[in-house]
Order: sequence, then structure tokens, then C-alpha cells
Amino acid sequence: MRLIRVAIIGGGVTGMTAAYHLQEQSKERGLPLECTLFEATSRIGGKIQTHRDQKFWIELGPDSIFTAKPDGVTLLRELGISDQIIHAVSGQTSLARNHTLFPIPRDLYMGIPARWSAMAMSPLLSPRGKLRALGDLVLPRTSELETLSLGHLLRLRFGHEVVEQIAAPLLAGIHAADIDRMGIADATPAIEHLIRTHRSLLLGAKRSKKRTQRPASQSASSPFISLQGGLSTLTEALFAKTNEFVHYKTNAPVKQLKKNPDGSYTFVYLSDNVPTRFEADAVILATPAHAAAAIVETLGITTDLLPSIRYASTATVILGFAAATFPEQREMTGFLVPRSAGLSITACTVVTTKWPSSLDQKQVVVRCYVGRDGSEEILKQSDEDIVKAVEDDLHAIWKVKRTPAFYRLTRWPISMPQYDVGHANRVARMEQALHDFPGLAMAGAAYRGMGIPDCIKDGKRAATHVLKHVTQ
Ligand code: FAD
Repeated sequence: MRLIRVAIIGGGVTGMTAAYHLQEQSKERGLPLECTLFEATSRIGGKIQTHRDQKFWIELGPDSIFTAKPDGVTLLRELGISDQIIHAVSGQTSLARNHTLFPIPRDLYMGIPARWSAMAMSPLLSPRGKLRALGDLVLPRTSELETLSLGHLLRLRFGHEVVEQIAAPLLAGIHAADIDRMGIADATPAIEHLIRTHRSLLLGAKRSKKRTQRPASQSASSPFISLQGGLSTLTEALFAKTNEFVHYKTNAPVKQLKKNPDGSYTFVYLSDNVPTRFEADAVILATPAHAAAAIVETLGITTDLLPSIRYASTATVILGFAAATFPEQREMTGFLVPRSAGLSITACTVVTTKWPSSLDQKQVVVRCYVGRDGSEEILKQSDEDIVKAVEDDLHAIWKVKRTPAFYRLTRWPISMPQYDVGHANRVARMEQALHDFPGLAMAGAAYRGMGIPDCIKDGKRAATHVLKHVTQ
């Protein structure tokens, strides 16, 4: 059998996982495969980026892997690093209102009230808001879910206050998204399932929560994990496992992908700043959608999918305070901020509480997000002004001094894909358009799930797809 050349474009967790599976499959099946991974920047790992010091580590990008989606944990096991797993401490997360923190109501299921008392007792809602939320129990079944946004659905069922004060920060906050643009099935398939199977969301949430609840005897450990040394331990393990098989090329941005008459592909990449041609039998595009759009411009794929996937920009600001100067946060792992709260911070994690083993406990380290879909003006400001705005918010909430021992700001421009209403349809149309380009696969956070486990699953799917093509 002749040598088969596969190119992977993008060295984040998606591209690296695709490389790992190509390696494992070719070893298992004895395939003569040559795999090259092209990464535009000088480092491998993409958005996974851990800052390490001698005594501690801090995540500049993602900070955890959600274990309810099994592909993340499965990969850790396959790579032989599951003994390095650390669990997040599941403490108290709060919601900010008028510079005061209120615990997130108990008895929520996927951010949806699963018991009337969850809302009735909450100081986050007015008496009128509480009464309106009861509407869900008597309203007829909601239909036309394909054209409704998640925000519209929840406003219909529970009213404006539940959405603004509870559901939006919980469900849209983690994606830096606008709940009124998020597709129901696209962004939150579990909620789509609830509303398809139950007339009342509250009753559906109550039943589902009961089904998934652990017995009181079992301790509820957090479903969020990291690794000793941070999440870069994962991408480093992927690199170590694959670098004899995969040719990693960094500082090698790719452009101008073309299909050749024999079905193979040619593209141009920079090698020592010199444009260089590369030919491959199959290509996996594992870049963000906007970068993929630029690369396939020369291919003539007739779809508006890639440019129509919107991205939000955000930034993380990490601040360290001497423990003695910070109010004690024994249980507090962080807080979320509703849009109406008028703060610059959109979410905050108390890293010292959530990941105690990652840090020296002589200091309190918090990680704050700023910027989200529709509110990105703050990101136009200088680093100093953004940090000052964050310090002002923390001072207003916790009365901490505006002088942290250290801070670090990381900007994440056009980094969070938005799964707007109709997203899954657009991805399906894209898949259809790709039928004319066998041997080309697109994978990553922009398409079938945004979290690290989703990206791992998608990288594996893309590897399987191109292998099928090159071996048929
Ligand atoms: P990326 O990591 O973006 O990798 C794509 C790579 O392609 C990049 O390295 C890029 O340089 C490269 N590239 C781009 N253009 C080209 C080109 N022309 N040629 C060659 N290479 C190119 N997920 C979680 O599960 N848990 C979290 O806690 C979490 N928190 C997050 C916090 C932040 C601030 C952000 C931004 C994301 C977070 N996410 C989280 C999401 C998760 O990090 C990403 O979805 C995931 O890491 C994306 O991986 P990827 O490989 O698909 O893309």
C-alpha cells in the first residue's frame, strides 16, 4: 500500500486528539500513514494554556473538564494520566445583585427550577417574579422549538425575572452567550429533551433531578476535574504520546486549500516565513470556524455556515491577594453576574477554594471574566483600565483593597463560538456540502459542542471519517 498523507490544521485539543486517534488506528491496522499537524502559533495546545510557577499553577484559558460527558475522562485513561486527576471542590456559587452575593437557589436542574420552593425562597426574585414563574405549571405545552431561542422559551414559561436573575447567568454565562440568541437544541440539548417530553418545564426538571439524584449516603463530588499541573498536562501528554508519529509544525499558518483533480488536497503554509506547498490525501481542519472560513475560501464550498458562526470575545483577569487582606471565603467557589447587575465582571472563580491543591494557601487567587456576547465594549480598554474595573467590582462586593499582590490579564478575542438558533441545521448543511470534498473534515468547538470533552469527541470523529476515506 502506498504512503497515505494526512494533514491536520490546528494544534488545539481537537487537532491533537485527531492526531492521537490516527496514530492509534494506523498502528492497530498497520496502515502506512504519515500525519503532519500545522499550528499557526509558536505553541501547541490552543486555548488550553496553564501558567506554571515553581509553587503553583493557574489556568489562563479553560479550567476544567466536565466528567458527565465521558470522552474527556476516557482520553485521560487512554493516555495513562488518570492518576493525575484532581476534582474541583464543590462549594457555594452565588449570583451577584446590587453588589451583594446571593447563593444560587438549590433544587435547580440544568439551571431550570426543579421545585417551586427553589424560587419561592430566593431573595433574587420579587414577589411578582415568583408568582409569574408559577405560570409554567398551567401554561400549555410550548411548540416550535426550532425557531425559539432558549431565552424566549424560558421567558414564556417562567417570566422575565427567572431568566435575568437565574437562568441566563447559569446557562448562557459559561459560554459568554446571550440567552436570547441561543438555540434550545443547539446549545442545551438536555433542556430541549425536557420540554419535548413534558408540558411543564418545572415538573420535567423535578422528575429528571429525582432520577439523577445520588442517595444521601453518597458524597457528591464535583463533576468538574483538572489534572496535577493543570490542563496543559493533557495537551503535553497528547504531544508526548504522538510526537514520534506526528510531524508537528509550529509557526506554520495554513491558507489556500485546494482540491486536486485526483481528489487529494494542496495548501500553502509558512515555513520559516516562506510560503510552502503541501499535498495531502486527507485534511482535518481543526481551527476555529472563522480561521477555517479563510482557509477554505479557495475551495469553493457553497455554504454560508462558517462565516455565520458568530464568536464572542472575552478576557480573564487573575488577581492574587495576601490571604490576610481578603475576606474569608471558606465555602465560596465563585459567583456569576446577571447582565442587569451593572458590573464589569461577568463571572468570578475563587481559585484558592475551587482548586486548593493548585496554589499556595498564603494567598487568595480569584479569576474573573469580562466581556460577553453583546457586551464587549470593555475589551476595547487598556489592560490597566480593565484590571481597575475588575478591582472596583471586587471592592464593591467584598470590600477588598484595590491593590492585589499580582494580576495577569489574558485576552481571548473571537474565542467563544455562539450556538445561535438554527446552529445544528447550519452544521448539517455544512456536512452536506462536504460530501463533494471527501477526505476533508472539519472539527472543533464551533460545530458539535463547545467544551473540551466535545472537542475530544469531535477530533476522534474527524480522524475516523478521514481514515475511512483514505483506506476505502
Ligand atoms: P483551539 O484550542 O482554538 O485550537 C485551534 C488551533 O488552531 C489554535 O491553536 C490556533 O492557533 C490554530 N489555528 C488557527 N488558524 C490556523 C491556521 N490558519 N493554520 C494553522 N493553525 C491555525 N471548555 C471546557 O470544557 N471547560 C472550561 O473550563 C472552558 N473554559 C474556557 C475558558 C475560556 C477563556 C475559553 C476561551 C474557552 C473555554 N472553554 C472551556 C472552551 C474550550 O477551551 C475550547 O472549546 C477548546 O479548547 C477548543 O479546542 P480546539 O482545539 O477546538 O480549538
